[in-house]
Amino acid sequence: MLRVPREEFLPPHVRDYAYSDMPLPIGYGQTISAPHMVAMMCEYAGLRRGMYVLEVGTGSGYHAAVMAEIVGDEGHVYTIERIPELALFAKRNLERTGYSSRVTVIIGDGSRGFEPAAPYDVIVVTAAAPDIPRPLVDQLRIGGRLVIPVGSRFEQVLYVCTRTEDGLRIEKTVPCIFVPLIGRYGWREE
Ligand code: SAH
Repeated sequence: MLRVPREEFLPPHVRDYAYSDMPLPIGYGQTISAPHMVAMMCEYAGLRRGMYVLEVGTGSGYHAAVMAEIVGDEGHVYTIERIPELALFAKRNLERTGYSSRVTVIIGDGSRGFEPAAPYDVIVVTAAAPDIPRPLVDQLRIGGRLVIPVGSRFEQVLYVCTRTEDGLRIEKTVPCIFVPLIGRYGWREE
C-alpha cells in the first residue's frame, strides 16, 4: 500500500485528504473505500503473488492497483464497473500510475461476474449486495475466496466465503458500509 499513490486515484478537490484513513467521494454518488477497508479485504481474501482476481466495483481503480501490487506480474486483476465514466477514470488512473499491464478494466454488470476470465482465485466485491450472487460463487475456483459486504442498502457485514468441494463456507466478519451493488444480482436502480 505504501507503493500505491492514493492521491492519483482521487478527483482534485479531495486530494488533500488522500492520506486520511476514510472513504472519499469520487463522483457519480460513489466513493473510494478507506485504506483500512482495502487492507482488510486483501487480507481476508488471502491475496498472494500470482493470483487471478476479479474485483466488482472498480470506482477509482485504487483497490485494483493495491491488489495488482500484491499479485505481481505473474497474476492479474480483472475489475468490472457499471458506470462507464468511472471505468474510464479508473483506466486513466491505472495507466498513469503504471498498473495497466496487470489490471483489465471492464464495463458491465459485475453482479453477474465476468465469465470470460473465470475461474478466479479471489473475487472481491466493493459494493453492498442483498445476498451472495450465485454467478460469483460459480466463477470461483475450488478453494477460492469471495469477500463481499452483504446486508441492507445502508449497513452490511463483510462476508468471507470459501468455495469448497461441496459448497460454500461463510464467515461473517466486521460490520461495514458500502454503496449499493446495482444489477441483476444486486439492488434495483432507484
Ligand atoms: N473499489 C473502488 C471503490 C468502489 S465504490 C475503489 O477502489 O475506488 C463501488 C463501485 O461499485 C462504484 O463505482 C459503483 O458504480 C460500482 N458498482 C455498483 N454496482 C455495480 C455492478 N453491478 N457492477 C459493477 N460495478 C458496480
